[in-house]
Amino acid sequence: MPPPLAAKPKLKIATTSLSGCFGCHTSLCDIDERILELAEVAEFDRSPLTDIKHCSAHVDIGLIEGSVCNAENVHVLREFRASCKILVALGACAVNGGLPASRNALDVADCLQRVYCERGVGRHQVPNDPELPLLLDKVRPINEVVRIDYFIPGCPPSGDAIWKFLTDLIAGRMPRLEHGLLRFD
Ligand code: SF4
Repeated sequence: MPPPLAAKPKLKIATTSLSGCFGCHTSLCDIDERILELAEVAEFDRSPLTDIKHCSAHVDIGLIEGSVCNAENVHVLREFRASCKILVALGACAVNGGLPASRNALDVADCLQRVYCERGVGRHQVPNDPELPLLLDKVRPINEVVRIDYFIPGCPPSGDAIWKFLTDLIAGRMPRLEHGLLRFD
């Protein structure tokens, strides 16, 4: 007879945000009390939920929200990919650039000039502290930077969709999100 799920070594799950709004993380929290069921078989590694800043060497499932807007996003994404066996693009920003990519039709220098010099308050200059991450000229979905194993669409995906995905994956099934679990509002 196979051992009960809780007797197996716990999986490690990590989550992080690139340029996102944390709405996808909020949806993860929308699994509500089912998080206790998840805690029976998995533990959270790097995540805003644990405040752990860097992944352990071997993470089983990484969930990543947000698009790639600047050099720091690229660094975090590459580090995350190197640590996670399975990497999941969580939400529209990660899947296709989402809302942040709406700046792709605009010139970045022009945007900065308008925001900080024409409409900004205070010093009326574009911030240039060397510690600030360099903006990319275009916002990218994460699969344009690293290999992605799964995509969960939605802005944000619902807690039910994230739960269905995780329970399928952990049980060794091909994750399937039926039509009712997909939403784009
Ligand atoms: S997909 Fe939507 S909810 Fe998720 S980070 Fe992007 S804007 Fe926020």
